[in-house]
Amino acid sequence: MNKPATPATPATLTIKVLIVAKTRQGSGACIGAISADGRSLRLISADADKDEFTGREYEVGDVWEIHASPPATVLPPHTENIIVHQKRKLASQIDARATIERFMPPKAGGIHVLHEGLVQVGHKGTLYIAEKSGVPNYTTLFWRPDAPLYRHCDGKRIRYAYPTETGEGYTLAYVGFQDPVEIIPAGALVRVSLAHWWRPKDDPEIELRCYLQISGWFLPQSASLPEEIFQPASSRKAASHTYESAHTAPPDEIYGTLDAPPEEEILLYEPPRALPSFETSLAGATQLLKTVFGYDSFRPHQQEIIENVLDRRDTLVIMPTGGGKSLCFQIPALLFDGLTVVVSPLISLMKDQVDTLRELGVAAAFLNSTLSYNDDVSIRQHVRQGRIKLLYVAPETLLRPETLLLIEQSRLAAIAIDEAHCISEWGHDFRPEYRQLVALRHRFPEVVCVALTATATPKVQEDIKRQLRMLEQNTFVSSFDRPNLHLTVAPKSNVLQQTLDFITSHRDQSGIIYCNTQRQVDQLSEALKAQGLSVAPYHAGLEDATRQRNQDAFIRDDVRLIVATVAFGMGIDKPDVRFVLHVDLPKDIENYYQQIGRGGRDGLPADCLLLYSYSDVNTILYFIREGAESEQQGRSHRLQKLVDWAESNECRRRPLLDYFGEAYTVENCAMCDNCQRGKQEQTDLTIAAQKFLSCVLRTGERFGMTHIINVLRGSRAKEVLSRGHEKLSTYGIGGEYSAEQWKLLARQMIRGGLMVQDLEFGQLKVLDGGRAVLKGEKFLGVLEVARVTSASSEPMQYDVALFDLLRNRRKELADAANVPPYVIFADRSLQEMATYFPQSDASLAMIYGVGVAKLERYANEVLPIVRSYCQQHNLQERKKVPTVSLTPRAGLGKKRFEEVGEQFAEGMSVEELMTAWSVTRGTILSHINNYVRADHPLPVARILAESTWTAE
Ligand code: ADP
Ligand code: ZN
Repeated sequence: MNKPATPATPATLTIKVLIVAKTRQGSGACIGAISADGRSLRLISADADKDEFTGREYEVGDVWEIHASPPATVLPPHTENIIVHQKRKLASQIDARATIERFMPPKAGGIHVLHEGLVQVGHKGTLYIAEKSGVPNYTTLFWRPDAPLYRHCDGKRIRYAYPTETGEGYTLAYVGFQDPVEIIPAGALVRVSLAHWWRPKDDPEIELRCYLQISGWFLPQSASLPEEIFQPASSRKAASHTYESAHTAPPDEIYGTLDAPPEEEILLYEPPRALPSFETSLAGATQLLKTVFGYDSFRPHQQEIIENVLDRRDTLVIMPTGGGKSLCFQIPALLFDGLTVVVSPLISLMKDQVDTLRELGVAAAFLNSTLSYNDDVSIRQHVRQGRIKLLYVAPETLLRPETLLLIEQSRLAAIAIDEAHCISEWGHDFRPEYRQLVALRHRFPEVVCVALTATATPKVQEDIKRQLRMLEQNTFVSSFDRPNLHLTVAPKSNVLQQTLDFITSHRDQSGIIYCNTQRQVDQLSEALKAQGLSVAPYHAGLEDATRQRNQDAFIRDDVRLIVATVAFGMGIDKPDVRFVLHVDLPKDIENYYQQIGRGGRDGLPADCLLLYSYSDVNTILYFIREGAESEQQGRSHRLQKLVDWAESNECRRRPLLDYFGEAYTVENCAMCDNCQRGKQEQTDLTIAAQKFLSCVLRTGERFGMTHIINVLRGSRAKEVLSRGHEKLSTYGIGGEYSAEQWKLLARQMIRGGLMVQDLEFGQLKVLDGGRAVLKGEKFLGVLEVARVTSASSEPMQYDVALFDLLRNRRKELADAANVPPYVIFADRSLQEMATYFPQSDASLAMIYGVGVAKLERYANEVLPIVRSYCQQHNLQERKKVPTVSLTPRAGLGKKRFEEVGEQFAEGMSVEELMTAWSVTRGTILSHINNYVRADHPLPVARILAESTWTAE
């Protein structure tokens, strides 16, 4: 058997385990343990070779917390080997039987129940499994034999025999430390494991075999108990090893808090209804898009990518979050014969992703460490039987020998590598196991591979391409623009009030509020709670369980707002986050873009507001200076870029996309504060500017904005008086403007090149441009604090009351199915229902996201609601506009405004376009505006037909 490649440092896991057996292995001990998710582990000390006593400190029934890693090389069947680097004893003498029953329920019956029925009988009744007939999914199991096992010795070793009709008995070798009782009664709890692979030296023809052995047992209560296991802790000899003293809490309580899945959550796998079959071609893909996913058209690049994959060319997909990466492998997976394996490190997302697919009628499943033992076995069986089309797997699970074997035995058609940047050391999330996926490609060379990531930096992209040997022509890079995100920066004045104002404009919508520190998170979430808002905090300082609970509540719409540090967001797939509010300045553009990227994944508008204050810059600089010296320069440079961006008055999208190496050429994006403010009148602010500049000069160019404004506005602040600045001629000459207005003015002066601000200390210095203004040159600017229209201040034209009814029903259905609401229907689906009022199955099938499975499952849930609402309010069904492409229809590279403009010219109304593109009126008008400006023929007739439209 080949040795798998030695991985780079494997990730260390922290696991609580219960010791269930000690067996002989050389002079040391072989330690059998189970984890709370019902896995059997064999603990191997990191220094096992050097120390023959390793393992002696463990006792059966102890609970230990271990820090361990999977070993570099593992040969089946010892797939559960785990190397222990550090350990800590938590409790002694737990009732091991009860715990085993709970976490690794035993098989009861004859020998046919052992190891998935793969057991065979050899010479002298020895039991074994053979390599050729299949390797089971586990090495160890617990068994309640239905007949007693009798000890017999054949001179060399002790065996236990299970009686047969012929009287001979099937035999299992005994390798434990316990006193070998004469009879193990029927119904005892017996631990059965597999030995190593073996073949007689003189018979190379024989297939490799692996014998079954008994490594311990727990007798029924009434039987006499083997002393060494059940001795009370107090009478045991103190172990000679040093470890932290045992926990004093009652043992059961400790083990009881292990994160075992509650029993009712066991995921019984039901194969979904068979889907209609489709041709493996682009035509088939398009049909499938509508029939299964309920979407009318592909998003940019999806079609080309799918074609490329269907042609079995390895493909690299670089697309922003929410761009629609998943379809790029899901559609080919449904068209290919055989299995598609999807590798993803985001274990927390897998269940929701799989639930979403199952809701669409797709045979999907996942394998990762969160699965219970039974589910794991059941899913593996389904895979082996070819009943799964899409299998999501965590990389560490995939690389386990038995998973590789399972895949080898299945008909593998494609491998999708999600979050492919994890392969690159340059990425923000390098994972050594991802490197091994390269080897996986060699193992299955004929299988087509799709790698996907939303990581934008060119360096990482290059690295992925190199690692995976992807050809340039098979790389698809989408624009990183997220046109549905509305971007605004506002001066920070009163965080709580500004937050409340912002939230009020997003009644009942899900949103994330980012703060820089845990303390701020706690304070702000408390303050919001006190206002009666539905809110939960999230940061690394909270207990794991609390954090998880809060995150789940957010995903399931049980709370609307999450106030969080940057710790929140990885592994969040919630598509209907309607706003992202930063009350503090993020570290750099990349972080900021990643965080706002969590808004509006469903393509509907989402509002992003950053409250900006220069004092945040200082705080971040402080942390940069505290950090590694080698990184200081780079980090402050990146911070400076973000500060420049925040202070800029050009379209917010241009510098953002520029940062990711992409040129943004649209003149007015209509979805950022600056583009919307662009039309504001400028006024002559020369006098105000002169006052400010001379105050900067008189204080010696040694102070920041706040101090200058304090002096101008005649503040009695200590900093002013202690320096004698109340005696300056500029003291108190600026009372006509608020501090906020002065800040706005100062920023414009910086942008206009009148002053500079030192990044580190915030000191202002006057430049030549400023001196010219002091000498009388005009300075024009804007002093109104602009009220910026937010993305959703102009709501889509759907019936809000009906939407609420449908949303309530969705929540009930979701709770009943134990999935997040968006898995049942996207917001956009409900909005379309509340726009077109579908009355029949046929019209419901036209709605966004409604494919065959959803129709079958939910038509009877939603249609009655829509019908009775329409009756009550005397509403008629509206015809949904025939297929409106969200991708440019004729040739790529066409701008969105051209698309919209053409559709408008062809006769679609502004209302229809708003629904079709799910954007606001303002956006559509701005697209039409750009269309006309770009020298397209003016659709005069159309403009006249639109009464709400007034030509500029
Ligand atoms: P990513 O993985 O790139 O972040 P997803 O694959 O999760 O994005 O897609 C984001 C959302 O867009 C999902 O809700 C998905 O169903 C939806 N979506 C994807 N492709 C289309 C399409 N062609 N038409 C409509 N919605 C789509
Ligand atoms: Zn803009």
